[in-house]
Amino acid sequence: MNTPKAANFIKNIIEQDLEQNKNQGKIHTRFPPEPNGYLHLGHVKSICLNFGMAEEFNGKCNLRFDDTNPEKENEEYMRAIKEDVQWLGFEWESLHHASDYFQTLIDYAYQLIDKGLAYVDSQSAEDIRLNRGTLTQAGQNSPYRNRSPEENRDLFTRMIAGEFADGTHVLRAKIDMSSPNINLRDPTLYRIRHKAHFHAGEHWKVYPMYDYTHCLSDMLEGITHSLCTLEFENHRPLYDWFLNVLDTPCHPQQIEFAPLNLEYTVLSKRRLIQLVNEGHVNGWDDPRLPTIAGMRRRGIPPSALRNFCQKIGISKADGTIEMSYFENVLRDELNQHAPRRMAVLNPIKVTLRTLEENHEQWLELPNHPQNDSLGNRQVPFSNTLYIEADDYSDNPPKKWKRLAKGESVRLRGAYVITCEEVRYDEQGNVCELICRHDPETLGKNPQGYKANGVIHWVSAPHALNAQIRHYDRLFKEPNPLAADHFLDTLNPNSLTIIEGAKVEPACQGEVGNVYQFERQGYYAIDPDSNSDTLVFNQTVSLRDSWQN
Ligand code: ATP
Ligand code: MG
Repeated sequence: MNTPKAANFIKNIIEQDLEQNKNQGKIHTRFPPEPNGYLHLGHVKSICLNFGMAEEFNGKCNLRFDDTNPEKENEEYMRAIKEDVQWLGFEWESLHHASDYFQTLIDYAYQLIDKGLAYVDSQSAEDIRLNRGTLTQAGQNSPYRNRSPEENRDLFTRMIAGEFADGTHVLRAKIDMSSPNINLRDPTLYRIRHKAHFHAGEHWKVYPMYDYTHCLSDMLEGITHSLCTLEFENHRPLYDWFLNVLDTPCHPQQIEFAPLNLEYTVLSKRRLIQLVNEGHVNGWDDPRLPTIAGMRRRGIPPSALRNFCQKIGISKADGTIEMSYFENVLRDELNQHAPRRMAVLNPIKVTLRTLEENHEQWLELPNHPQNDSLGNRQVPFSNTLYIEADDYSDNPPKKWKRLAKGESVRLRGAYVITCEEVRYDEQGNVCELICRHDPETLGKNPQGYKANGVIHWVSAPHALNAQIRHYDRLFKEPNPLAADHFLDTLNPNSLTIIEGAKVEPACQGEVGNVYQFERQGYYAIDPDSNSDTLVFNQTVSLRDSWQN
């Protein structure tokens, strides 16, 4: 596809900053996931942006785990995130954990206390919430707001030492309880949690909050451009407040962009966790999920995801991408690179009475009609074949291009065959077509010869058994989260399993290989494959079946 480069306002900002030699001409970004779930397509947008800007401007991009919540984070998520970022094709400059900064963050908290800009609040969580006020009503100062720096220091030190129970005290910034921006109404910096942390161990009894941690972690790493999604726009004044009041060597610039939304799916870790934990899908790498792990298993190549992000661009305007747009990007990419194969999903048998019973012949077929660099493959041909049941009709409509009694059709890359006799089973279903082949027609039509259409086939004695998994949209509604209960909009037919398919021998390969099954779509080898049966995931159909 030849689309002009999509807009990216952040790139313009960076170019300007470079022109003005801001940050000594350095560009340093980061991708900061919380290891509390697997990454999804929304994160791909953020990864491509952060790593992409660093790549384009000769800068650096860190991977940082924003691991401030000991309740929800774990090692498995962390491992998966690293694998996914690398699979997308990106290398981080260095790997960090916000939890490695816990001591430094505490030192900064003492700095705030000493400046009279933070205090220990001993109200209950409920009172803190009530006293925060609303969008239309100012908040109330805490009765503990005027504690002296000495008292705050002492209490905070004892919080850190583990002297107090969870929920008894918090450390809050002292900003403005009547600010129209609720984020500035004395936000909590630390809460007490007697809980071990998957990375930082048993040591900590207090944990810093996200807003406080995030800006300081950026600063500690010398991040120049801190790119985040629009919901953090209202947090920017707080981000800047921390960096302004503390003595810090630099002040990263937070810039917000619109998050990616895609129709018929959900891009939210919380919702994805629910789908996985409640068994609506088969694990984080279920090919129906928009997780990177799921998309990889489905056969979507990383280059297609990077292209997609390039095409949709970066803006401030919230919007939702159509599923058909996403799928078309996949098709374009796969069409260029996927080797062609023949696979019969719903087979009926064809016997060629013009060939010996043990006839075996190997035909050389190109792997790709336009891309010679993909080479050729050997396809076995014999007197017993399978063709798609749909490619034969007892009562062909007018202009039928496929097989019917007395009609001829070309077998892709092989001969023209003519159907002479049809056999039925006891239920009256077609079970075998007796045909003749015309030896003159291998790979070409002799003069004056006319076959109807071209169909795919596989040689029965050589065929491999396959199970085919077809995926439909995971949700019936374009915006599942608009429903009262998003689970009510799950598509009950999102997975269809086809047993008994037959594929040509060259379909064997490594897990993850993607082929174009001629006339059907793109299919990837699934890890569930075994020595008896290959399992294929449909990556995407050849054409958009939802379009009228
Ligand atoms: P979720 O909302 O799914 O829980 P999150 O924002 O809480 O995601 P993080 O681990 O904090 O998850 O995300 C890491 C980075 O990815 C953040 O900078 C975040 O802004 C970005 N990100 C998350 N979702 C999207 C999205 N839909 N589009 C673009 N960027 C996103
Ligand atoms: Mg979030």
